[in-house]
Amino acid sequence: MSCSFDLSHYREILEAARAGGYRFAQFGEAPERGDLFLRHDVDLSPDAALTMAALEAKLDVRATYLLMTQSVFYNLASREGVEAVSRLHELGHQVGLHAVYPDADLDDRFEPVVAWHNPDPEYMTAPIPGAVNVMEERYFSPATYRSDSNQRWRSGCPHEELRAGGFPWLQLLVHPEIWVYPGATMGQTMRALVEAESARRLEQLAQDRIDLT
Ligand SMILES: [Zn+2]
Ligand SMILES: [Zn+2]
Repeated sequence: MSCSFDLSHYREILEAARAGGYRFAQFGEAPERGDLFLRHDVDLSPDAALTMAALEAKLDVRATYLLMTQSVFYNLASREGVEAVSRLHELGHQVGLHAVYPDADLDDRFEPVVAWHNPDPEYMTAPIPGAVNVMEERYFSPATYRSDSNQRWRSGCPHEELRAGGFPWLQLLVHPEIWVYPGATMGQTMRALVEAESARRLEQLAQDRIDLT
């Protein structure tokens, strides 16, 4: 099995987790043996999130999508953003806030689950009143945490350990953009995303009655 960052290997990771006896858990429940907290921080593209969410729903997998209200890259208040939130709910996923410190304003679009975007160590694991911080002590310890940040598994791709039931429980952070867009490195993948975005921007401009002739 080659550990590429694409949807076909993502599917293999999910199937490995199922074979290893893991159950897809939601933040808010205390971690128990066999729980897999599948977390998606949506940094760049709600579109990529929806592609991943649809694949998961097909496999009967429930994940937690954390969306930004202060993103430089997308507008959650746009029609597209509003539709993304409702589609994620329809597909059975938990939707929380990917917040920019110190603003954790939860409104009725979100369940009370917060992940800070690019957190500093000073507040990363601090409890948040009225909400779950996904990095608070009960959900976060290095042995039960894996992340694909910058298209690199620091302790290796987790599929083998999942298949073997090697983690007592696991929080798995997966960024949808990395798996949906092609590229062997983060730099390549981000360039592919930017290219797709540029085509999308031209369509949006045309829809906005901008003359592109
Ligand atoms: Zn792998
Ligand atoms: Zn982030």
